[in-house]
Amino acid sequence: MTAACSNETAQGGASGTKAGGSSQADPATSEVPDGSQEEEEPPADPALAALVNKTHPLQNSYAPDDLVAIEVPTIFQNSEVNQLRKGAAEALKELFAGAEKDGYKLYARSGYRSYETQQALFADYVSREGEGAANRYSARAGQSEHQTGLAMDVTSDSVSKGLTEQFGETEEGRWLAENAHLYGFIIRYPKGREDITGYIYEPWHIRYLGNELATKVFESGLTYEEYLSGNEAS
Ligand SMILES: [Zn+2]
Repeated sequence: MTAACSNETAQGGASGTKAGGSSQADPATSEVPDGSQEEEEPPADPALAALVNKTHPLQNSYAPDDLVAIEVPTIFQNSEVNQLRKGAAEALKELFAGAEKDGYKLYARSGYRSYETQQALFADYVSREGEGAANRYSARAGQSEHQTGLAMDVTSDSVSKGLTEQFGETEEGRWLAENAHLYGFIIRYPKGREDITGYIYEPWHIRYLGNELATKVFESGLTYEEYLSGNEAS
């Protein structure tokens, strides 16, 4: 069993939790932080800010042209998933160095995934779990942030290098949640926001947005979907 982005593993840490539900704040009434409605220079690379989810899929053919091998501890001997776009790879290296400086050892488990890889993984998941379950915990091809080359699944020894909700309770997971934005990443699928993001809580999945945008999203306390819709409304 796998989680939304952990399709290569057979463990089912995330499957027991029903995230989301009626405790969810109404996104329409969520406050937009001061300053978020200011005119801003568009990012040098608009793709860095791209929203990718179940209603905003990527084109089948999309593949980043600047993928590089990441230079941090990895888990799999898989050259595809051990890649990110260049800027994200550099930021990840700094993030891991920052964690190590504070005494925490992180591992990069799964980064870039091509459309074809995601297609095969989702089909495999459907065959084992059924389509309903698969769509909740995994992504259809084109709907995975991993295809952007800007998302990475991060783990630690304290959860046996797996992808499980427990990671959010570990010292490494807490450090990640508190510090990722300083390196340009956000925790993309926060707890209790399944009905907005479309995915269960994934404390291990980080998305690169660049330092400025990641910090704004972090400080807003919103999901990326809510953050963007707040800005659009301005
Ligand atoms: Zn992921």
